[in-house]
Amino acid sequence: MRALAVFPGERAVRLVERTPPRIATPTDVRLRVLDVGICGTDREICRFEFGTPPAGADHLVLGHECLAEVVEVGSEIRALAAGELVVPAVRRPCPHDACSPCRSGRQDFCHTGDFVEHGIKERHGFLAEEVVEDARYLHAVPRELRDVAVLVEPLTVAEKALGQARQVRERLGDRAGNTAVVAGAGPVGLLSAMVLAAAGFDTHVWSLEPESDARAELAASLGARYVPAAREPLARLGTRLGNVDVLFEATGVPQVTFEALEALGHNGVLVLFGLPGRRSTLEVDAAAVVRSLVLRNQVVLGTINAGHDAFASAIRDLGTFEARWPGVLRRLVTGRFPLDEHGEALRTDARAIKSVVAVG
Ligand SMILES: [Zn+2]
Ligand SMILES: [Zn+2]
Repeated sequence: MRALAVFPGERAVRLVERTPPRIATPTDVRLRVLDVGICGTDREICRFEFGTPPAGADHLVLGHECLAEVVEVGSEIRALAAGELVVPAVRRPCPHDACSPCRSGRQDFCHTGDFVEHGIKERHGFLAEEVVEDARYLHAVPRELRDVAVLVEPLTVAEKALGQARQVRERLGDRAGNTAVVAGAGPVGLLSAMVLAAAGFDTHVWSLEPESDARAELAASLGARYVPAAREPLARLGTRLGNVDVLFEATGVPQVTFEALEALGHNGVLVLFGLPGRRSTLEVDAAAVVRSLVLRNQVVLGTINAGHDAFASAIRDLGTFEARWPGVLRRLVTGRFPLDEHGEALRTDARAIKSVVAVG
């Protein structure tokens, strides 16, 4: 079978021929991969800036945003059957007894850093014709979501972000305001806008693209207001809105993070999930930042990866979004490419929102 792999030593990305995997334990499930979404992380791995092959391997099979179909299940598996659709989780627990998150199924909160991640860190990814995975890391998806379920994994990022923002907002009870801003209109930014709009927030999407861009139209079709960065700086948007209660920072640009802090209102929660590059030096008024955090009861939280609860919410919400905004999720997938044309999917294209490798 074919798989797409990155060879960091050779600085090469190419299709490789591999032996199809077999079921080895009673809880294994053999899967035929259907769709794999490509994101900034994959592009960084293909530029050899990121990503680690499994121990002893000279290559890493790519792919972490996966939709697959069950082909065969191990002898102990009752909850899944051949033909069902599933989305696998990306992260696997670290081996340390002292890591209570990993020992209790919350490896998204691993505190040792020794977790592994499919297609990213020390574990082959899903960009292969077939994979075998333990059933406990698989999430069943209804058949009617076949065309859009490749978005489940990126959506889990937004679901985990909202889940944590909600926990912080519990301190306010029913006094919490409902003005939300998402900075960045990439796939996770737009999915965040959907999550927030569906949760009843008055949602604004602030991003670099001009108002004529497809992303702006997409935001508008959710009932969110799109604000081009060139028309209004983020901090000024915050002032105009009165009080920004929740701000999702999805650009990963450190300068935007500090502007987001300026835009954040009283009792506001700033959630960071965009990842900056390795180095960035900025001059900031540190006293103003600290003053604002204290005087306005603000919370800044970072979030990475997602737990089972976020996968369950993402799968449920994809159905909700389809019903509420018919066709909008499909418009997020701007390109589908067969395995042979992976180069097109990996290419950075300013007009593309989400590129997908259609493996099967
Ligand atoms: Zn991704
Ligand atoms: Zn751990």
